[in-house]
Amino acid sequence: MSSGPTTKAKKQPKSHDQMYRCEIKKKFIEGETKVYRWTEVNVSDIPGRPKARCVHCKGAVRLHFKRQAHGTPDHCEHKLRQDSTHCEAGHYFEGVHQESLSPVE
Ligand SMILES: [Zn+2]
Repeated sequence: MSSGPTTKAKKQPKSHDQMYRCEIKKKFIEGETKVYRWTEVNVSDIPGRPKARCVHCKGAVRLHFKRQAHGTPDHCEHKLRQDSTHCEAGHYFEGVHQESLSPVE
């Protein structure tokens, strides 16, 4: 019982954005027409795997859903590293927020 793996002191091998909210297109009825609008939701409330974008910069995000009881909670991250660099919610944010260079519309 002396040489167990001590993972606590180790740094995480890979860090990335961990955002818990994103936008997906939701259907609304206006009069008699259906319209789709970007709507902010919790990642954990998303049904299936729709196209999603960042609430802050409109950049495309990748959804991650929790697989294990003690795993990382449901979240999303920017698909593009440059979005993470320029978005205030990004892990690599460098201090000046701007909209994604390739926003999802
Ligand atoms: Zn963003």
